[in-house]
Amino acid sequence: MIKENIFFLGSGSGFSSLPNTSLLLNLRNTRVLIDFGFTGLNQLRRYKISPQTIDALIITHLHSDHTGGIEMLTYIHKFQYQKKLLLILPNFELQFMLWDMLKHSMRFSPKGIMKKSDYFDIKIAQCASTCRFSTMRFKSHKFTFVKTKHVPGMLSYGVIFAMNGKRVFYTSDTAFDPELLAYVNENYTPSLIIHDCKTDHEDEEVHATYKQIATLPLKLKRKILLIHYDDNYSQIDPKLDGFIGFAQTGEKIIP
Ligand SMILES: [Zn+2]
Repeated sequence: MIKENIFFLGSGSGFSSLPNTSLLLNLRNTRVLIDFGFTGLNQLRRYKISPQTIDALIITHLHSDHTGGIEMLTYIHKFQYQKKLLLILPNFELQFMLWDMLKHSMRFSPKGIMKKSDYFDIKIAQCASTCRFSTMRFKSHKFTFVKTKHVPGMLSYGVIFAMNGKRVFYTSDTAFDPELLAYVNENYTPSLIIHDCKTDHEDEEVHATYKQIATLPLKLKRKILLIHYDDNYSQIDPKLDGFIGFAQTGEKIIP
């Protein structure tokens, strides 16, 4: 039986020359994308992955290096495959914010004025015990979303999901937040943490820096694969500090 796996469609920061951080989850009975930035479509083509095989797209927040490919992906689904794109969103408000971003071009089509519902099926996660956490199920897979500290005032979420019976925590973009990491580690016991990592600045308020993440306890760092890094990343050897390493674009990992 083929093991469930994560394929890194991209692993760079929005400011880097690397493809945007984007995770393709090859799950038992479905294929789910997490984030799809402005390099997304080219990366699907580069790896010969048909956009038609994407069953759902999870959006963690609205920065263009996480959402910039949605318009074209949606057009391909709608006008080439005659189907809607399924969006999985951590928060009810995000659907309106996303459509606000897209509608100035997507409203117009040869078929007349289009609505959000003409393009998208949307599933919204429901608040768990507190609204800092929300959960939803898709094709028997459970996704838990956790609010992160990214740009002040902006909605942004990490995602916890299971693969091959093990849990994975993808932080998406976040400032350094050791309390959240400790909480998720204790309550969800992920065996893998895919963590935002700024490599070209030491002081940064919206992304965790390499220097900050390196201060975490070794037992946590042994679970951490770094992602969303900058062009200088190859000057750093994260294994020396106890990390798994840097996630590489085009790499497939089996948790
Ligand atoms: Zn961001």
